[in-house]
Amino acid sequence: MLADDHGRIATDLRVSLTDRCNLRCSYCMPPEGLDWLPKPELLTDDEIVRLVRIGVADLGITEVRFTGGEPLLRRGLPDLVARTAALAPRPEISLTTNAIGLARLAAPLAAAGLDRVNVSLDTLDAATFRRLAHRDRLADVLRGLAAARAAGLAPVKVNAVLMRGVNDHEAVPLLRYCLDHGYRLRFIEQMPLDAQHGWQRAGMVTAEEILDRLGAAFALTPDAGDERGSAPAESFLVDGGPARVGVIGSVTRPFCGACDRVRLTADGQIRNCLFATEESDLRAALRGGASDAELAERWRAAVRGKRPGHGIDDPGFLQPARPMSAIGG
Ligand code: SAM
Ligand code: SF4
Repeated sequence: MLADDHGRIATDLRVSLTDRCNLRCSYCMPPEGLDWLPKPELLTDDEIVRLVRIGVADLGITEVRFTGGEPLLRRGLPDLVARTAALAPRPEISLTTNAIGLARLAAPLAAAGLDRVNVSLDTLDAATFRRLAHRDRLADVLRGLAAARAAGLAPVKVNAVLMRGVNDHEAVPLLRYCLDHGYRLRFIEQMPLDAQHGWQRAGMVTAEEILDRLGAAFALTPDAGDERGSAPAESFLVDGGPARVGVIGSVTRPFCGACDRVRLTADGQIRNCLFATEESDLRAALRGGASDAELAERWRAAVRGKRPGHGIDDPGFLQPARPMSAIGG
């Protein structure tokens, strides 16, 4: 098992497949992009499958989520999904994506064994999309979402980050759109993980504010059936249900005490937290000839020292050196 010194057990592995992206969401990276990792530093498919196999077979990982950067940019993704689905015991397999290209890939991914997708959608307005993501791709995202639903990748979840003065007036329209299309919407508070280090707590649209805005148009009641557990979203029934909306107060309502996640970056580093300042280099060990047992032990040690909380409110808080796109969101 991947246990830490605070009694938590990591069972949910987030695997970043690339740090590259075809969007430039301003809460994530600058318009000019970043210096991408050189190809030789990226784990190969075989290396990823080996590490995921160790996670699943020896370390109690039960869920694997592929992310990035934009994971759909990784060539051969359906094959990677199929190889993950063939592992024993078979993990749940999901994908976090901006959905550009999903119109083409949703069916092959579902056929390969993908169970679910989370799609990022912050606005329904093409001009706001261009402003926020610096690319004119809203129509592709909406097409990708529809394809995910058609391919049976249910429930299709939508993640939205609201930014003050940019898209914070869209909480209600976004929820309406998702309810109309059968997508499950979750709002995520903006975290200090942008490459530009522009995040400011005072500028953040908080969970409370989001609930206030939604409350003006919908009756929200706490979802009694929802056991928050390790799932970070607080869930609410909309107008009595069964429709729901989630609010992830990562900053103001942290769920670190119930966190069950561990991350593998595209260049083979284990991170025990989004906000970790240290990483454990599995790639060097793996390429240096380490056995499965040695890799598993290194991985266990990396998780053991996980800090109790993200510490964003601590006076000495330091944003991690790597941005969200390189860590794997
Ligand atoms: N490119 C894919 C996507 O956008 O879904 C996967 C990677 S992205 C880094 C994963 C998730 O992190 C997205 O839902 C995105 O909205 C979220 N994200 C990125 N930067 C964030 C930030 N500073 N605060 C909160 N969420 C953020
Ligand atoms: Fe790309 Fe996802 Fe970051 Fe947006 S949030 S720039 S889609 S990696």
